[in-house]
Amino acid sequence: MPFRCTPGMKDPVKTLAYEPWKIAVKAFQVSPRTWYVAGQTWVGCYLIDSGDGCILLDTAIPESLYMLIDGIYQSGHKPSDIKAIFLSHAHFDHIGGAAAMKALTGAPIYMSEEDTKFMAECPKETMLLDPDSHPQVFTVDRFYHDDTPIRMGDIEIRTVLTPGHTIGCTSFFWKEKNPASGDVYTVAMHGGVGANTMNDQYYASSAYLTPDLRERFFADAPKIAAMSVDIALPSHPNQIEILDRAGTYTHESQPYLDSTVWADFIKERVRQVKVLMK
Ligand SMILES: [Zn+2]
Repeated sequence: MPFRCTPGMKDPVKTLAYEPWKIAVKAFQVSPRTWYVAGQTWVGCYLIDSGDGCILLDTAIPESLYMLIDGIYQSGHKPSDIKAIFLSHAHFDHIGGAAAMKALTGAPIYMSEEDTKFMAECPKETMLLDPDSHPQVFTVDRFYHDDTPIRMGDIEIRTVLTPGHTIGCTSFFWKEKNPASGDVYTVAMHGGVGANTMNDQYYASSAYLTPDLRERFFADAPKIAAMSVDIALPSHPNQIEILDRAGTYTHESQPYLDSTVWADFIKERVRQVKVLMK
């Protein structure tokens, strides 16, 4: 199915912090080894089963953690299966639940060195962005090294620093084999594309992020868009529509398999950032 995005929801933080059940969604599989486990429809959290432990990709906020944990069980896994927690970027809506998930699983937390510094020096623009959510402080155990993929079981995750939305925003690329057909797919999640931090108004008030980040986002976009991705996953489900096919996955049907989605998604996000510059 070709690329499609949907409008963001109204008051997402208030909804997720106070009435998260209103945007509940059951865990659903998106690729041979990956499940959407967030439990809610605003912030994406994924579980990748490596065959020898699982990787949790982003955690959403503490107020919706019960949904994430439920989602992990619904996917047929349990928190103790998680051996690594990967964070895409240092905004509270992706990292707010990381401390609790680390305590629950004992898994190390990975984040980019750039965003770890951003988080330490600028809590108001990272952890404390919204008074309705109460993220818990955590320590980053490991940084990403884009030239050294992270291996677990038979999955190898390649990280790519994709600055723009934050200075250390990180995107993830990995391969999965379809056990039914033997085909191998490249699966990817972009770490963050929100134009809310790539506009003049934000830069004017920011103590940390500067307009050159937006230029880097534009400069990198053609390179990122040219990467071959068969299954493109959003860090917020409205950015690439995936909820419409929730619960329909089979190895034979591959409802999310479309190698045109990734490039169209990147182009659309560049367009959205440029609109704000006019
Ligand atoms: Zn963000």
